[in-house]
Amino acid sequence: MNPPFTDRHARTEAERCLQCYDPPCSVSCPAHIDIPGFIAMVRTGNLIGAAEVVKSANALANVCGKVCPEEVFCQPVCTRGKQDTPIAIRELHFHATQHEARRGYSTPRPFPGNGHSVAVIGGGPAGLACAFELAKMGHRIDLYERKLPGGVPRNSIPSFRLSEEEVRADLDFLSRYVDFQHEDVDAQRFARIRKSHDVLFVAVGLTVDRPLPIPGTELPGVIPVLSFLESAKAGLRVPSPGNRILIVGGGNVSLDAAATAKRMGCREVVLIYRRGEKEMRVWANELGEARSQGVQMQFLTSPVEIIGRRRVEALRCRRTRLSDKLDSTGRPFPVEIEGSEFTLEADLVIPAIGQVPSGDFLDLFARTPEGYLKVDESFSTSLPGVFAGGDLVGGEGTIVQSVGQGKMAALGIHRYLREGAGA
Ligand code: SF4
Repeated sequence: MNPPFTDRHARTEAERCLQCYDPPCSVSCPAHIDIPGFIAMVRTGNLIGAAEVVKSANALANVCGKVCPEEVFCQPVCTRGKQDTPIAIRELHFHATQHEARRGYSTPRPFPGNGHSVAVIGGGPAGLACAFELAKMGHRIDLYERKLPGGVPRNSIPSFRLSEEEVRADLDFLSRYVDFQHEDVDAQRFARIRKSHDVLFVAVGLTVDRPLPIPGTELPGVIPVLSFLESAKAGLRVPSPGNRILIVGGGNVSLDAAATAKRMGCREVVLIYRRGEKEMRVWANELGEARSQGVQMQFLTSPVEIIGRRRVEALRCRRTRLSDKLDSTGRPFPVEIEGSEFTLEADLVIPAIGQVPSGDFLDLFARTPEGYLKVDESFSTSLPGVFAGGDLVGGEGTIVQSVGQGKMAALGIHRYLREGAGA
């Protein structure tokens, strides 16, 4: 990660922006931030104005300014990149929002109420973005979250990538517009919340780790990746340095776990992935960072059994090859090679093969074949007056994609209420 900008460096970088008339950077941003608009303010030294432009489009402005994968959305399409190098959009965004967070927010102007009440269940990026957008439209918002609000950014993105202060900078701002209720919502509570609000927006995310479908996962020393990351972030249950840790999975979450384990001082950290490097769903800079920290990669390898008497001692694996057939994600199926078994010693095994939705009230909803909540184009679910968004409807995505979905769902909810709550 590059060092943060100074004010002078930020102005110089902002000067390079071409102020495109139909800016591809804003179009490709899932939150549709007015990027040339805020960069123009950085250029004139108006950092508070720049932060306000960003925040008016993205409720998680500080979080996204720090961890948004700019190499995927705004920067690769930046017109300036055709001349020399793309504008450092994320860094300018973060410079402005952090400046504002340090200076303190201006006195909030309350949005005029319109008499409608909306309950948002889930305090992650989609829920927070939807809540803020609806609050701007004049709806009263109650947001229910069993932990502290913030979702994945607060609970499982490692502190070395995103600090608690950076998350809090956004939540302090949002708490002026949204009523946070610290509450676990079960089926009974869900029914009561539904009666007491005009509309519900459900965005509880994917909260349970998908179990590895192999024998031995019940052994002590097998820690699901979310528990590992959450415990590490909270400073709990840290494996002793010197351990050999095997992480099974090929996504950004597995890289976060690997980098976290390395920073804890674990001697050997090996990532086991059943496909090749090209098929990994990771950001290139995170992969490079993990490698530079000494994380080893074992590609084309599938776990077969976790071995141990009283706790984990080893992982039996099989080599794989990639078949010509593609799965629903467009990647080739891995095929295990008979007779290719081998064993890797392990003190901890961390399965990181994805997460699934969990919550008894979710049984009420129609689901997609993959198990996510089924929604229409306005994010309306199979239950009248209940909308849903975020990872719960589309599977694991980026924070800014969840923000974008929360905003779009807010428009669907606003339209639904304006048209007479489905009457
Ligand atoms: Fe500026 Fe690049 Fe966006 Fe054009 S595409 S407005 S140059 S940041």
